[in-house]
Amino acid sequence: MTVRTRFAPSPTGRLHLGNIRAAAFNWLFTRHHDGVFILRIEDTDTARNVEGSEQGILDDMRWLGLDWDEGLDVDGPHGPYRQSGRGDLHDAAVEKLIATGHAYPCFCAEKKRDDEAGGDRVARRYAGTCRRRSAEERASRVASGAEHVIRFAVPDDVDQVEFVDEIFGPISFPTNDIDDFVLRRTDGRVTYNFGVVADDIDMEITHVIRGVGHLSNTPKQVLLFQAFEAATPVFAHLPTVLGSDGRKLSKRAGATPVNELESRGYPPDAVLNYLSLLGWSHPEEKEVLTRAELVAAMSLDRVGKSDTQMDAEKLLWVCQQHLAMESLEDLTDHVGPFIDRDRFAGLDADASSAVDALRTRLLTYGNINEHLGMLFPEDEVAAVSIRREVGADAEARAVLTAVRARLEALESWQAETLNDAVRAGGGDAGARGAGLFHPLRLVLIGAEKGPDVGKLLAGVGKTEAFRRIDEALS
Ligand code: GLU
Repeated sequence: MTVRTRFAPSPTGRLHLGNIRAAAFNWLFTRHHDGVFILRIEDTDTARNVEGSEQGILDDMRWLGLDWDEGLDVDGPHGPYRQSGRGDLHDAAVEKLIATGHAYPCFCAEKKRDDEAGGDRVARRYAGTCRRRSAEERASRVASGAEHVIRFAVPDDVDQVEFVDEIFGPISFPTNDIDDFVLRRTDGRVTYNFGVVADDIDMEITHVIRGVGHLSNTPKQVLLFQAFEAATPVFAHLPTVLGSDGRKLSKRAGATPVNELESRGYPPDAVLNYLSLLGWSHPEEKEVLTRAELVAAMSLDRVGKSDTQMDAEKLLWVCQQHLAMESLEDLTDHVGPFIDRDRFAGLDADASSAVDALRTRLLTYGNINEHLGMLFPEDEVAAVSIRREVGADAEARAVLTAVRARLEALESWQAETLNDAVRAGGGDAGARGAGLFHPLRLVLIGAEKGPDVGKLLAGVGKTEAFRRIDEALS
């Protein structure tokens, strides 16, 4: 059996870390099983649709590397993949349920429905007036154009809806507590529970992986699968993600929009890695995993039930670990677009030496400007006065002079050869350790401690390095 999954967001705004997690789990699970991953847009609740958010969803999915095999912009044999375009398919599915006695038209006005229901506990329960009408009466009212919804006829002969959730275990829900819910509204649009089941059947979905918030919808959906005499998919509800404050996820406490992470230069593979840890754990409890390792290790049996919590610091830590795994070439490519070239005009077109000097400090690609300030300080006045002070010290001056001579003799300006030259210069001046490196760093970056001196010299660039040393010696 081919695993077929779907991510079915509603276009109600930008995706944030909390809601793209379900996409990440679906994608990892599907790629693990060489399955088919579908992107379906559930846009039938037109009042909640937000212009432009569909495109945002596609962009965010692509940025995170969650490619889909069928769906918007890709197409496939089960389209259309935008729910609003599936009206005819939904109507046919509604007719099928009416024909088999699992659904019926209801003409009760909203107001009347409530009045009939009476009482408080069951205030919003449907009283069943139209369910009791004869099939002939209902058909003739429909034929005469009476406004109506279509309701599901919850079976009387089933006490409990039962299903097994892969994560939450066996679930049993009394059918008595389920109303004859609406499948299609008066304006012809289907409701969420109906659309989702009709489409999951049509798209041959084998595994429904989504947030636990939908667990309460599942009994209704299981009843619908049964009414259609369709195989019920495997359900796997992912545990709740709470905000960093331990409360319901909110923008302030971790529901960061995905595009914001993109523009702040978070590495997508690290974000995917972090998302995987929101509910799942690696068999060996490894926390830093590449995309390929995540795909290889993902399984639903290591997803827990317990609530998880957003943790912005942990996310940055995972990002840092991922940056450390990148080759210098890749890292330079990724960091490049974030560099503020106006502010750091002194930086070489090829920023790789500077990136190399700073890479262990970077948490994200976008973080580069914060650290480039160390190599190219904005406060030139302060930098100059530090250099002069160093130059005024006889010992430091001897070190700088000796190192300068060794640097001058170099043919190439690379971190390793630069380090050798610095040591040789130190030897000439009888200095090593702090006596050698502190004056050099002070002259180069205004601080005694910092990155490797060879990398600093390379990062600052030859012309600028000489200019700074000469300023100290002048
Ligand atoms: N459109 C629903 C949502 O955005 C999808 C739920 C589901 O996966 O069934 O929550």
